[in-house]
Amino acid sequence: MPLVNAKEMLTKAKAGHYAVGQFNINNLEWTKAILLTAQELKSPVILGVSEGAGKYMCGYKTVVGMVTAMIEELNITVPVALHLDHGSYEGAKKCIEAGFSSIMFDGSHYPIEENFAKTKELVETCNKLGLSIEAEVGSIGGEEDGVVGMGECADPEECKMIADLGVTMLAAGIGNIHGVYPENWPGLSFETLDAIQAKTGDMPLVLHGGTGIPDDMIKKAIALGVSKINVNTECQLVFAEATRKYIEEGKDKQGKGFDPRKLLAPGTEAIKAKVKEKMEIFGSVGKA
Ligand SMILES: [Zn+2]
Repeated sequence: MPLVNAKEMLTKAKAGHYAVGQFNINNLEWTKAILLTAQELKSPVILGVSEGAGKYMCGYKTVVGMVTAMIEELNITVPVALHLDHGSYEGAKKCIEAGFSSIMFDGSHYPIEENFAKTKELVETCNKLGLSIEAEVGSIGGEEDGVVGMGECADPEECKMIADLGVTMLAAGIGNIHGVYPENWPGLSFETLDAIQAKTGDMPLVLHGGTGIPDDMIKKAIALGVSKINVNTECQLVFAEATRKYIEEGKDKQGKGFDPRKLLAPGTEAIKAKVKEKMEIFGSVGKA
């Protein structure tokens, strides 16, 4: 199946009260692990690519080439969207050109008027080309491009303004944070989520910073209208942990254990297990 945009899968998720996971990719192993797990579990999936990861993987065209070829070679039949995560205005344009099926334009650091104008322009382009587009209102805490902040709560009125531009899905800050949550984190603001949902109706809402939010909060957020959840750090942590174990046990020094296909295998398996765990919590298993 060729890449699809995220609209249909998220509309179904919102109506069915479950969420589709966005799992960020960093290389071939990451992509393979996520695609195979989605296929095995018959779950729709969104592959997220940050601008940094896009650069690391030698540019967006390389990413599109790798992902589309892998879908074909691995006989992946579940819906897969290839999505730019936290795109800049310029990055969004590059991804549209390279063949991504979905983009996020993160204009949350602009004054609301400028966020509004730039989002509007990109919505028009995406609509014309059949791509889905995610916008962000209220910056999401944690480390985003080197800047660390506590989770902010979006203004429901501003959310409505951006939603009305015709974006496909909306990321709104509800106290969530990128990366690992600090000990004193007060939790998600369900009050804010409820107020946003009341203003934005059927619009699928996106929860960023899915790493370390307790499962019961995730389930409550889904019940209140979240239908896309982004997971990134958690896969990185389990990959690193499994790789460390392999090396610390000296397995790279046994026989041909230094072969990268062996060295990276435990980390790849760890990502698969983590993606499976998340898809089960999100309720997207069997929904493809
Ligand atoms: Zn994010």
